[in-house]
Amino acid sequence: MAAATYLDKLNDQQRAAVVFGTDGSALPPPLLVIAGAGSGKTAMLAHRVAHLLVKGADPRRILLMTFSRRAALELTRRVERITATAMGTPVVAEALRWSGTFHAIGARLLREHALAIGLHPDFSIHDREDSADLMNLCRHGLGLSRTDSRFPTKGTCLAIYSRAVNSGAPLTDVLRDHFPWCAPWADQLKPLFGAYVTAKQAQNVLDYDDLLLAWAQVMAAPDFAAHIGAAWDHVLIDEYQDTNRLQARILTALKPDGRGLTVVGDDAQSIYAFRAADVRNILDFPDTFLPRAEVIALERNYRSTQPIVAAANAVIAEASERYTKELWSERTSADKPRLVTVATEALQARYMVDRILQDREGGMRLKDQAVLFRTSSHAAQIEAELTRRNVPYVKFGGLKFLDSAHVKDLLSVLRLARNPRDRVAGFRVLQLIPGIGPTAAGRILDALDLTPNPRSAWEDVAPPPRAAAGWPAFVAAMTTNAVWPAAIGLARAWYDPHLDRIHEDAEARRADLLQLEQIATGYPSAEAFLTELTLDPPDATSDQAGVPLKDEDYLILSTIHSAKGQEWRSVHILNAVDGCIPSDLGTSSTHELEEERRLLYVAMTRAKDHLTLGLPLRFYVTRQTRNGDRHIYAMRTRFIPGAILDRFEAVTWSPAPVAGEVRPAPAPIDVAATMRAMWG
Ligand code: ATP
Ligand code: MG
Repeated sequence: MAAATYLDKLNDQQRAAVVFGTDGSALPPPLLVIAGAGSGKTAMLAHRVAHLLVKGADPRRILLMTFSRRAALELTRRVERITATAMGTPVVAEALRWSGTFHAIGARLLREHALAIGLHPDFSIHDREDSADLMNLCRHGLGLSRTDSRFPTKGTCLAIYSRAVNSGAPLTDVLRDHFPWCAPWADQLKPLFGAYVTAKQAQNVLDYDDLLLAWAQVMAAPDFAAHIGAAWDHVLIDEYQDTNRLQARILTALKPDGRGLTVVGDDAQSIYAFRAADVRNILDFPDTFLPRAEVIALERNYRSTQPIVAAANAVIAEASERYTKELWSERTSADKPRLVTVATEALQARYMVDRILQDREGGMRLKDQAVLFRTSSHAAQIEAELTRRNVPYVKFGGLKFLDSAHVKDLLSVLRLARNPRDRVAGFRVLQLIPGIGPTAAGRILDALDLTPNPRSAWEDVAPPPRAAAGWPAFVAAMTTNAVWPAAIGLARAWYDPHLDRIHEDAEARRADLLQLEQIATGYPSAEAFLTELTLDPPDATSDQAGVPLKDEDYLILSTIHSAKGQEWRSVHILNAVDGCIPSDLGTSSTHELEEERRLLYVAMTRAKDHLTLGLPLRFYVTRQTRNGDRHIYAMRTRFIPGAILDRFEAVTWSPAPVAGEVRPAPAPIDVAATMRAMWG
């Protein structure tokens, strides 16, 4: 076929995967592509979708799932580009309407079929923070927080609950294996989780986990599963190594014989076990169906230079459990990954920003560079340095736009207007009204709960006398019949005067909310807007004011977890030291330690041309150490042992003193001696 020139660019294995099973009229048997980082798995998947479309598949009958909305968008754009050349007219992203994350697809399905499965179609979706708040309300309701101050925090309670739901394991096992310090409270946690589930039902609320759990549960009814499954011919999934047992159950219910199913992933990059992802999903996939799935491996890395591939291979080669694959690259380079030892995190930040700006001078855009870190808080120094030197950046996986109080307030107003039973939103919004505190808010919500139709009952609820002045405006905001997107304008108008009262920097926040309203107008309905924002919120930027202008150049800061699947010409990894990678929390079991190793592997394999790892000898930890200090003296990460040091270029850096500059006293540490100890 002359038109299929897009196949020519692929290597033999990729091509075999792209066309596998697409020749006959029957749906292709199940296919697994398992391969190392940068070997073109995602590229293959985009080509496979395009190829199916070229062969006449209906884009509306293709379900495409991956781990983030950003990744899903990128995939559909690629399909668009390939089909544009292959078919003359592209199959546009809108036609591929079933593409997104498992959670977003779940939310859409549950909303579409709500009535049939006993849900109210106006259900709200709680993000993790809302869920933790609801857990807290339940905890107080049961008097648990008063019984013992050491009782697990709301966040820990939610993490335990979430883990149990996503793994399907009994609570006692989850406690024993992952939260042993909480095991003494098993008898209290059980009723707490019971109360939490009841509260969600009563309030018509689903949390993240419910989007999968409810989906999996309704799929257990064979009629329903067949009905839903019949909606798609092809189901294709990227990053399959990071799915959990519920997601695997959903898949097998969608495609009981596996036909039309393609999954892609890399067991060496499984980094979400801490959220109950189970690498067995991908390892067991070949034997899950009859006929047995076709397995195709890819070994050529197209992303990185050979020295980067060699270093990453060396790090992962030590892993204890793994589908072995040896990656190679034809991209030669004399540049080994650099291991840069510096005295402190502040100097690490200076070094990296120096390099980044130098490279920009040399023609490498900021957008082609990234700084990666284990947890968001580790970016503090680099953020400060970037701000000081006026370098624009976008931060992924850290504080979200959505986490700021004013954005949350406005979204809660919208949520409450749609679903007045949502108590977390209710508590938040009611307390914005002068004269209403937590007790009064609780009473109002209790009264509302007793009415058959709470939406119209706002008018009948009596506010406390102190709040009488602000009440009519609130009721008007809750009961408006404004159509979308006018509704968000009205909600903002109601909230606006409260901004000045609550926040000192009201003007900046006002600008954020205007921007939020702008974003909202791009959505067809309040549900679509709220769902998307809750499931995949926009990322925070250097000025906290939303997304930078389209053609502006900016640096990417990202947690390693959020950098999955992406690539940059130059990558800087912060804190490649023990205590950070692996984190001190991650070293309690071999499983967790192995996950930390894979995390470093994922980070290193994001780099195309240049890779830098920072080794600050002293770094800040959020958990207090035994002597009360919050700094620890660090050693090079154990994942880069002496035996593989030759794959790196070791550098020690300290800033050249500037004449006349007054420097702060040097850190009380003998760098030279520590260096000798470390490097031998
Ligand atoms: P990860 O495991 O990190 O998700 P991956 O296996 O999905 O990586 P891709 O992101 O698909 O890898 O590809 C890595 C890079 O290699 C991309 O820049 C992609 O465009 C390029 N690439 C993939 N296949 C080919 C090919 N056959 N020829 C040239 N470049 C390719
Ligand atoms: Mg990929």
